[in-house]
Amino acid sequence: MKLVRLLANLGYGSRREVAWLFREGRVTDVDGEVLYADDRVPHERVLLDGEPLDPAPGMALVLHKPVGYTCSTKDPARVIYDLLPPRFRLRNPVLSSVGRLDRETSGLLLMTDDGQLLHRIISPKAAVAKTYEAILAEDLRGDEAAVFASGELMLEGEKTPLAPAMLEVLAPRRARLVLTEGRYHQVRRMFAAVGNHVEALHRSRVGQLVLDGLPEGEWRLLGEGDLARVF
Ligand code: URA
Repeated sequence: MKLVRLLANLGYGSRREVAWLFREGRVTDVDGEVLYADDRVPHERVLLDGEPLDPAPGMALVLHKPVGYTCSTKDPARVIYDLLPPRFRLRNPVLSSVGRLDRETSGLLLMTDDGQLLHRIISPKAAVAKTYEAILAEDLRGDEAAVFASGELMLEGEKTPLAPAMLEVLAPRRARLVLTEGRYHQVRRMFAAVGNHVEALHRSRVGQLVLDGLPEGEWRLLGEGDLARVF
């Protein structure tokens, strides 16, 4: 791929804007030689203003999503892209979240520009386990674990029962729930179905991948080892 296209796809500007970066001699190879718009050079050998380029297509990252951000590109309120470098919103292929967390949910959110990877993770066949911690408005009754594990719970408006889910009671109003599906507002609706209300919800784990001390609002790139933990 010509460098002008590579940089435009990474969100450094329109092709015309990127062409100026080359005219100004700001794009070099790792040995300091000036590169030109039509050159074809491996991504990892290219520097802009002496700095390596953003990650090549095929990237994946983990974001510690705070409450108050939506998983959308267009919401007029705060969106997850506000927490990433501005160029990440302009990439082609698009960087999108792997499934969604509600605005009021915090925790581990994967993002990738790799469509195949995204579908592999959200595919019902993969049944990737997602672990949530919920704070509840009411004391747990005691039968919730059995109801959630039954594989028979029907949520309002749904045509098929939920797959069995594992509930661990942590305190009278605190529980950990492991799901292998990702239906709309699933955790909140599950607790509503057993007469409770979720006051706060946090996703702590996807597969075996954890936030590992990543502070709220921050992100890090994922390597092969991290992705292997997801499946
Ligand atoms: N279930 C919910 O209700 N909300 C989320 O954000 C994720 C799972």
